[in-house]
Amino acid sequence: MNLIKTYQFKVVLIGESGVGKSCLVIRLTKDIFQSLHISTIGSSFYTKIFSFKENEEIKLEIWDTAGQERYNSLTRMYFRDAFGAICVYDITNKDTFFEVKKRIQELKSESLDIIILLIGNKIDLEDEREVKYEEAAEYAEENGFLFYETSAKSGENIGESFRALASLLNKNNQDIHQ
Ligand code: GDP
Ligand code: MG
Repeated sequence: MNLIKTYQFKVVLIGESGVGKSCLVIRLTKDIFQSLHISTIGSSFYTKIFSFKENEEIKLEIWDTAGQERYNSLTRMYFRDAFGAICVYDITNKDTFFEVKKRIQELKSESLDIIILLIGNKIDLEDEREVKYEEAAEYAEENGFLFYETSAKSGENIGESFRALASLLNKNNQDIHQ
């Protein structure tokens, strides 16, 4: 009999409204670009499974906001027991980079161990870029965050970035349990 062991991790999406959080997670889980995503009330979640070795799978339970970021009203429930945070900004809007850094600082002060994946989204709009790759990469490196630039529209780097997060969660988990 072939038993597969599943490790599940809750991860949350954060970032300003409009940066493409919902599009990213829809691209990841359904491989489509749904440009006008209508959010429902409350938060929704998606699952995505990664496998790094035989008989073992890593399941990400990805929580998406439903517009509450607009009113700064994400509840404690949203963050409770989250092992990772996917922190998204829009490379064509430097305010969103500034804001996501603020949110990360707040988050880190409350949960020190949370793993951060920083994502600069919308790289298909290179002509409108306001946030340099180097600036964000340097910020991420200084703080020990994973960092990718992505496009939910073209699909570039979406799988790669979430896979890197799953891999790191898996590695930390193994370190704890060995
Ligand atoms: P959220 O508020 O962070 O969940 O953002 P949404 O996922 O709802 O996306 C906000 C807007 O940005 C929508 O109009 C999307 O079509 C658009 N969008 C999202 N991702 C991309 C991307 O990678 N490239 C481009 N050009 N537009 C995007
Ligand atoms: Mg959304």
